Amino acid sequence: MDIEYLKSKIREIMDFPTVGIKFKDITPLLEDKKAFHQSIFGLTEFFKNEKVDKVVGIDARGFLLASAVAYLLNAGMVIVRKKGKLPYDKIVQTHDLEYGSASLEIHTDSVKKGERVAIIDDVLATGGTAEAAVKLVKNVGGDIISLGFLIELESMNGREKFKEHKVHSLLKF
Ligand code: AMP
Repeated sequence: MDIEYLKSKIREIMDFPTVGIKFKDITPLLEDKKAFHQSIFGLTEFFKNEKVDKVVGIDARGFLLASAVAYLLNAGMVIVRKKGKLPYDKIVQTHDLEYGSASLEIHTDSVKKGERVAIIDDVLATGGTAEAAVKLVKNVGGDIISLGFLIELESMNGREKFKEHKVHSLLKF
């Protein structure tokens, strides 16, 4: 695992999508076969002995990572989506963003009571998004094992929101 190589494939875009945000663009990493392969392998390693039943991916870049990890773990793939996208019975959870708020949804039947769940997203910043996903999974009865992120923005202290769960990240900035 060549962490510096993987980090070199993260492109930083200033002032996107709004002024003051340093956006971590993961598309160069996804496009590079070695970097994509190593990233998926690294994320999968976090959970390989955890008997995970379901991997939850967070809309939208989380899906790109979570589905590959779910495949390798031989687990089911669950999607947590932005409000208004899921067609079936669902519950909603609202969380704060740097400006304003956002809502995420999960299908009520996507996780069975007691199933072992790993949550995956591309970036851990304030942790508000992943915290909303944790609440959704708990509310449908899932047993959260741990959370995994490709990128952790350490200065934002997002991991402090998850005292009860293990938080793994591959690339720390
Ligand atoms: P947060 O809820 O603050 O932890 O933000 C995490 C969510 O917002 C993830 O779904 C990320 O895709 C996105 N995000 C937040 N900050 C950034 C950033 N600097 N670069 C790229 N994506 C980000």
